[in-house]
Amino acid sequence: KEELNIIQGALELRTKTVEDVLTPLSDCYMLSSDAALDFCTMSDVMQSGFTRIPVYENERSNIVDILFVKDLAFVDPDDCTPLKTITQFYKHPMHCVFSDTKLDVMLEEFKRGKSHLAVVQQVNSEGEGDPFYEVMGIVTLEDVIEEIIKSE
Ligand code: ATP
Ligand code: ATP
Repeated sequence: KEELNIIQGALELRTKTVEDVLTPLSDCYMLSSDAALDFCTMSDVMQSGFTRIPVYENERSNIVDILFVKDLAFVDPDDCTPLKTITQFYKHPMHCVFSDTKLDVMLEEFKRGKSHLAVVQQVNSEGEGDPFYEVMGIVTLEDVIEEIIKSE
């Protein structure tokens, strides 16, 4: 029964983690921080259909900002505005979480916080050097809700 599935899903929030539901970095639609907001880039953003777009510097694992599609409301594609101008104007806070965060905790954070997207990182202690934070992907409120209402 559907109700049972939802209860089951809700109970699993305590055991499942962000890692189980995240969108991997390789699947993320992102923009490079040195992009120009010309017609081509802006229509690509619109066509992606996403509301929140991570912005990376140099490499995709280095997310430095989040662009909201609504930030583009006053941008004229003919001006070829540098993306940096927009991200520096809005400066949306970037929310980071660890990949082993339980989904019930994540849900609370989304409810409390302003943004419904978080960047997921893990500690990489493989190899010789010092451990470092590594970005695995992104998680949104939608991913957590999906986990509750999914029917198996
Ligand atoms: P909203 O529904 O608030 O308009 P949205 O449709 O852009 O936002 P969500 O509904 O939050 O995105 O998420 C839907 C799915 O898309 C989730 O699995 C989420 O991880 C994924 N997602 C969100 N933003 C991106 C992005 N920029 N690139 C790739 N996947 C994304
Ligand atoms: P996002 O979080 O994806 O940027 P948003 O902040 O515009 O989107 P939601 O997060 O979908 O909106 O909704 C936040 C709250 O604002 C909800 O309670 C929703 O019902 C309410 N809301 C959304 N749009 C409107 C609107 N046009 N007028 C009044 N309330 C709205």
